[in-house]
Amino acid sequence: MPTATTPDLLQLLHSTFGFREFRASQQAVCEAATAGRDVLLVMPTGAGKSLCYQLPALARGGTALVISPLIALMDDQAQKLTSLGLQVGRIHSGLDRDSSRQVCRDYLDGKLQFLFIAPERFRVPGFGPMLAKRPPTLIAIDEAHCISQWGHDFRPDYRNLAAHLQALRPAPVIALTATATPQVQRDIVSELALHNPAQFIQGFRRTNLAVEVVEVSKPRRTEMARKLLRDGAARPAIIYAPSRKDAETIATELNQDFPTATYHAGLDSGTRERVQRTFQTGELEVVVATIAFGMGIDKADVRTVLHMAMPASVESFYQEIGRAGRDGKPSRTVLMYSFADRRMHDFFLERDYPPTDTLARIAAALRPDPVHADDLRIALKLDLDVFGPALDKLLAQGAAQIDMGNNVTRTEQTGAAWRRSYDAQVSFRRGQIDAMMRLATGAECRMAALVRHFGDVSDAQRPCGRCDFCSPEQSSAQSFRQPTTDELATMQRILRSLSGGSHSGPFSGKSTGKLHTELFPSGEVDRKELDTLLDTLARAGYLTLESASFTAEGGREIGYRRAVLTHEGNEAADGEPLANLQMRDTEDTEPRGRTRDRSKEASARKKAAADETPLTAEQKALDAALRAWRSTEAKQLGKPAFVVFGDRTLRQIVLDAPSTLQELETISGIGPAKIERWGDSLCQVVAAHV
Ligand code: ADP
Ligand code: ZN
Repeated sequence: MPTATTPDLLQLLHSTFGFREFRASQQAVCEAATAGRDVLLVMPTGAGKSLCYQLPALARGGTALVISPLIALMDDQAQKLTSLGLQVGRIHSGLDRDSSRQVCRDYLDGKLQFLFIAPERFRVPGFGPMLAKRPPTLIAIDEAHCISQWGHDFRPDYRNLAAHLQALRPAPVIALTATATPQVQRDIVSELALHNPAQFIQGFRRTNLAVEVVEVSKPRRTEMARKLLRDGAARPAIIYAPSRKDAETIATELNQDFPTATYHAGLDSGTRERVQRTFQTGELEVVVATIAFGMGIDKADVRTVLHMAMPASVESFYQEIGRAGRDGKPSRTVLMYSFADRRMHDFFLERDYPPTDTLARIAAALRPDPVHADDLRIALKLDLDVFGPALDKLLAQGAAQIDMGNNVTRTEQTGAAWRRSYDAQVSFRRGQIDAMMRLATGAECRMAALVRHFGDVSDAQRPCGRCDFCSPEQSSAQSFRQPTTDELATMQRILRSLSGGSHSGPFSGKSTGKLHTELFPSGEVDRKELDTLLDTLARAGYLTLESASFTAEGGREIGYRRAVLTHEGNEAADGEPLANLQMRDTEDTEPRGRTRDRSKEASARKKAAADETPLTAEQKALDAALRAWRSTEAKQLGKPAFVVFGDRTLRQIVLDAPSTLQELETISGIGPAKIERWGDSLCQVVAAHV
């Protein structure tokens, strides 16, 4: 085995690739791979991953086998390497048999430096053994996250790779991907059976981006976007909207102030091309897009990226804000969200992933003999909008088969194998929404939180100094002010309560709910105010706010936040004066006392659901408890029960079982006044029954 020294690698970097130096982190990866170690490499798109297998491949000599899931990716890489004067072969379904045969001959003759194949190729009998006749000297697996069912585009053929790779060892295996949470990383290592791999998870920190998150109700978001982009230095800008319709409305509004257009998949290709081109040239200053935008665009000077709603995952969020500041100059991203966004995502999730029980009912009715889908639906007494998506999911799981005439049959999978994988998929999606929500509501440096999400734990220790958490005074979407004397005194009380008189760490912390009931038993300070004070203390470094959860009876995960004192916080609790306190100005954020922000769709669904769904035994108990509680409260007021709240609201509380004030607040019929007065007490009633 050739052992290349770093000067050799540098020499190859100059002579073959024409690059002057390694980018940060490339060198260590190249050294490990060249030395024959298995490698897991996670770096964001554009960071320069390809070089990390190509250079070691050349240094080791022989042929490198590259497995890639997409023909376009393969062709692109192959073309680049060919233009560098290297010998490259490709085998994929887009090529005719003769050229594939020729490539195989070239491979066996040792003429190739790189051979690109799709993972499906191993299904062709004899292909694996052919490769094994002259084993490669390095194996690269591109888009390695496809191997994980937790990854967003799971490819079953990746699963079988490990078995085939076995015969091609001892070549080192380099797994590359731009997107892998720690869970996906573990999956890659175990599914590919990597041997003690050198792991490089790096490059996610974007030092020129100021990431801001602001809680703001939907009706006020367009106005906020206008304000944020008013300054010419904030443009060019990309705005991400949750739907095509929203994109169009926002673009029409903003076009009165700056040249603005929409971009989404519903536009014809001519229009899309024109929008991209005029944005590129600067004629258009703002593009309001749905997620479809960005694939084809490589505009380096985007100064602002705005999100008009919460994306469905941190992965998409990161990718979208990543389009700001490619030129390395300071740029800003602002995410506008509210708890209503979470509900919207939950609604879509429920719509797209019907209950497992519904799938099971259909699966149980399937027979080896074909039955027409409509007959099956009628026999099962299912509505089309329930049956359709459920059958789709069974088909996707391979648990049912359908022919051209819409006749459905059972498969070997119809038994129970699909259930686990379906449930895993649903909880994966839910987990993505949870993670995004945690990021939005988190009380820590935004960039550090992002970097940690992608698994770069060591880099996540360092605050960025630019985001709305690190640097509130520079925030553009929200304003901060000095605390009042009263607020200062309350913050001291909070710190003292957390230190609990103890003068030495470590501090175990308290749930914010407990803190509230202990400190303000009669509600002098409401939960929202307390949250603002805690947030202020966290920004100044006196405490940290951790997301925690417990599993309630019935298996439901209930989330809460825990405040934990830092060393500085403990000193301040002893009487050190507080410094650097920046209070978030609530005027600027969620307006309280207005109509709640919610889409028509979701509220219509909820109304219908509230009236129809039969209650479980647990819900019935909660229903009874809430009614009893309501009549006690009403008696105290000397008013009829509906003054507290009506039956429909009560029903919604039963269905939603809100565990926090924020959740409670999103229920129609519960305004800020009611939250103030009864919020805690209501949450307690709910908690006692869930
Ligand atoms: P990724 O696969 O991580 O998305 P690529 O491998 O496509 O990224 O690299 C992105 C760009 O950076 C390419 O144009 C590549 O030529 C360039 N590049 C990679 N390494 C270097 C380097 N050391 N010096 C200069 N440019 C580089
Ligand atoms: Zn920060």
